[in-house]
Amino acid sequence: MLIDKIFKISLQNTPAQAEPSVINVYFINEPPRTLIDTGIKSEPSIDALRNGLKAYGLDLTAIERILVTHGHIDHYGLAKRLSSISSAPMYVHREEQGGLQRIINSLDFRRHVFLRNGGPETMVDAIEKLAISAMGFADNLEDVLFLEEGEVIPFESTMLKVIHTPGHTPGHLCFYLQKEKILFSGDHLIKNEVPFPDMHVVGSSPPFHYMGLKEYLASLKKIEQLDISTAFPGHGEEICDVKKLIVGIFDYYQNLINRVSLSLSERKTPFEIVRELFPDASLLFKIFGLYKILGILEILKEKGMVEWEEKGEKDYYFSRGK
Ligand SMILES: [Zn+2]
Ligand SMILES: [Zn+2]
Repeated sequence: MLIDKIFKISLQNTPAQAEPSVINVYFINEPPRTLIDTGIKSEPSIDALRNGLKAYGLDLTAIERILVTHGHIDHYGLAKRLSSISSAPMYVHREEQGGLQRIINSLDFRRHVFLRNGGPETMVDAIEKLAISAMGFADNLEDVLFLEEGEVIPFESTMLKVIHTPGHTPGHLCFYLQKEKILFSGDHLIKNEVPFPDMHVVGSSPPFHYMGLKEYLASLKKIEQLDISTAFPGHGEEICDVKKLIVGIFDYYQNLINRVSLSLSERKTPFEIVRELFPDASLLFKIFGLYKILGILEILKEKGMVEWEEKGEKDYYFSRGK
């Protein structure tokens, strides 16, 4: 049974990242032996991975192939180092190439976008600091091979199907063992959680479009069609009832959409909505909240339910008819 050859190894996340504190990587012990995601680049992380494999009588050189679900450092930080130890090629979706470096390269643009949306300077400074300090926990995601939607990754006795699930990041991938009804869900599905969507800013001048949430919900619909008995996520426990989790996430967003609509009887910046709906959230969760709100405003704007206007280089939204 292939399921007996799937080893879950849990590694510590960065100290700054209080939540989630643990990242799961999965080793499929069938030729070509494959690691799905890697954890951050740190000595404790590589030691834990080494020990995790040792428990099965293997070492790091047993890795023949590295698949990366997406370009967040907890999922790829160690990839280059592992690849140099084992000579395993690294695979990722084209849009995730570079990983964190892509964000670092676009810091000025992101600052502009956060400020337009009513984000305070202090928050923008804090995000930049966080991004720059995170650079120490990952080697650049380069010299990689690309995977695309529908591609098939062969093993001796089975195959893994590549499923492009944009949303959490533009090039997020899930890997599906169709025969075994197993999904490696990365950060697309996490038990008892609603993963945050990417901002995914589209456009070069205002109004910008924020596509992350719309893409995420479309990807959820795609996953809902699959026959899955167990999903192995990038964080937390295995998910046995995938359909129920997906329904819960749709409900969560429907509820949030309603609350945002109600809140827009007065004109507001997106960050004012974040403050109103997530008053007690930490800085990091306010940022994730902003990504959700921007995604919701995009959906409502498209449906003609909210209007956008620019004033003093800030973006304001309000319900139609007000
Ligand atoms: Zn992620
Ligand atoms: Zn993650």
